[in-house]
Amino acid sequence: MKNSLFKRAVAAAAAVPLALTQCLTASFAVDFNDTALIAANKTASDEAITLETLCYIAPDQTESSWNTTIANKLKTTDKTNGTIDISSYISTVTSKSAQYGSVAEAVLKAINEDGVTYELKNNLDIVLTAKTDKAIDGLYNATEDSLKDLANSLAAKYGVADLANIDFTKVSTKGTVTVTIGTSALDSADGKTVEATFEFVDENGTKYDVEGTLGYAQAKLDEVKTVAYDAIDSLPAGALTDDEIASAKADVDAKLADYQKLINKAKNGINKANNAADKSVSGTVADVIAAVNSQLKTSGYKRQLPATASAIMANATVKENFTNAINSFENTTGVAIDIDAAELGAFADSLENVEATYTASSKSASFKANFEDAEIDEVKAYYLKQGKEVVSSEKQITIDVDGSKALQGTGSVEVHIYRILELKDIEVSSTTTSTSETTTSTTTTTSTDEESTTTTTTVATESSTTTTTAGDQPVVTTVVQDTYVELESTYGFYLDIDEEFSKNQIESAVLNVVYTKGYTNDEGTVIVDETWSETYDIKDDVDFGSATPNNTYTKNNDTFKYEIPVFYNGAGIADKTGKIILQPGKKLADADEEIASVVVYIGVKGDADLNNMVDGADASLVLVYNAALSDGVTSGNTVQLSNSKLVAGPTSVYDNFAAFLADAKHDASIVNDWNVMKADRLIDGTDASAILVYNAETVETGIFGRETWEKIVDPIH
Ligand code: CA
Ligand code: CA
Repeated sequence: MKNSLFKRAVAAAAAVPLALTQCLTASFAVDFNDTALIAANKTASDEAITLETLCYIAPDQTESSWNTTIANKLKTTDKTNGTIDISSYISTVTSKSAQYGSVAEAVLKAINEDGVTYELKNNLDIVLTAKTDKAIDGLYNATEDSLKDLANSLAAKYGVADLANIDFTKVSTKGTVTVTIGTSALDSADGKTVEATFEFVDENGTKYDVEGTLGYAQAKLDEVKTVAYDAIDSLPAGALTDDEIASAKADVDAKLADYQKLINKAKNGINKANNAADKSVSGTVADVIAAVNSQLKTSGYKRQLPATASAIMANATVKENFTNAINSFENTTGVAIDIDAAELGAFADSLENVEATYTASSKSASFKANFEDAEIDEVKAYYLKQGKEVVSSEKQITIDVDGSKALQGTGSVEVHIYRILELKDIEVSSTTTSTSETTTSTTTTTSTDEESTTTTTTVATESSTTTTTAGDQPVVTTVVQDTYVELESTYGFYLDIDEEFSKNQIESAVLNVVYTKGYTNDEGTVIVDETWSETYDIKDDVDFGSATPNNTYTKNNDTFKYEIPVFYNGAGIADKTGKIILQPGKKLADADEEIASVVVYIGVKGDADLNNMVDGADASLVLVYNAALSDGVTSGNTVQLSNSKLVAGPTSVYDNFAAFLADAKHDASIVNDWNVMKADRLIDGTDASAILVYNAETVETGIFGRETWEKIVDPIH
């Protein structure tokens, strides 16, 4: 068990990228999940820890605070101790111990029976403890190559029943293994290093480090041998001949040699680590894995790793162990982690510019790799506001493992996740590089009862930066800070059977491009010393997309009012640097990210009382209105036509709209019907007649709309 812990530590130091992806033993898995693994990734307090949150860096920051994220999680958990079931790792450990697997398995299982405990200290350190008391029972009762088998085989071979009763279990293996993970260090802004320490304390209170623990195991093996020898030596005189005694002891030596091999294997591991050569690999994670495989082969291991991190993580055993490790961490700490094996594998494979180095003299390993900046858009927006251009932004993870004190049972992992930014400096003339989204502006809206409305809108566009350098002068930067459209429009009236809105509703449309010019001072602050704007008339290049009165109108809208989005539909507009800042097909939007639009009213022809039906009631309103005018009233602006609740008075937009609908038969002077107000219309008996004819016709045929109106009036508008 100490053996495997140490080997994992060595493995971690020698192959950091794999450490990222593999959780191989109980101790390592938990150790690793608490540090490097989690480190390789996250931020919030009531959410699960994810790869994204660990890697997150706020736009105005250049380093992830993954450490405080984890520390805050640990601070707020209410699960501060518990038991970890390591049985799921045991098979992995033992499958790697080849022919001694059954013995290792038996020992680990015996230890697991006593329970591996977890404790989160007040200072946030995590302490794992395991009792080794039953290790001797494990050896005695192993399914293969057990001490019990040894006793039985001696009894059978030499015909002495008493030998079957050799009491190997009187060899005490009482002791406690403690692994302390220094997660308390994470609880400060610059706490990026976690130290883990291993310690074994025997029943007498003697402490052992990793190397010392191997010495302890050797001493226990010697005690086992002594127990066997003593049993043989204390047989009644004559039970065995001298030759048989020598032969029996040789059998004991042979059997215990198998156990000795386990210890030797661990010692060899240490030697190999001590004698490891400097190693450096760069490229992708796949390149690093290939190098590790080559190293494994050179070192005499048959085992090879799959070619990619994804493939490693897809391995059923690795996947299971990873999941178990995450689960046991979650179960014991109460801290949720939402990272799955496939995701981690894919993340590792996505790393670029990987540099992995092992330095033998210091037994240290370092790993550095770049990956995509998930917050790139926010970063660009942040710097754009400061007049800076983001030429490039990517993230970099660095992991440094210090294994110099591994034999003393101490190792540390330091993890940083940085944002590597390239900000461009400059003047006015040369090249253009960056893009960024901006959407800001102000909006003013007037009452719909006014003749026209004015809206200042902003269109989301790409902004650009021009840069020029001028010797030792400060670098001056010109930035498009804002792009917006000022729109002046009037409302319009339409029939549900119309196929087009009038572009004349738009009285003016002006694109404003706001530039700022400034420089970055020595403190890195952008000093803006000039702001100006340039304008472009785009009135002739806006439209309403595919919207028509006919496809917009709906009977359910009892206000008859609609807001029709305005689109830019001219050629692309470039700013002074040549950068396209307004593309055809863009829908214009305002500062509140609401769509820029014009107001229209759509109803059915003839509907003077605004109830979406055309009948005698509408004809009556027309006749009453006409009678009032005939009775000496001089203007339509002083008498109300419609009796709809929507109508506030004779000059109300709705009374003008009702007049538009009621003016069923136009006077020849009417042009631009959509924009003619009530006072300018002749509304009389001919309109009332047309309405009555339409009503009679539709009652008879059931055919509404254009087809019937065309039989009655010409033109419709
Ligand atoms: Ca009506
Ligand atoms: Ca008329």
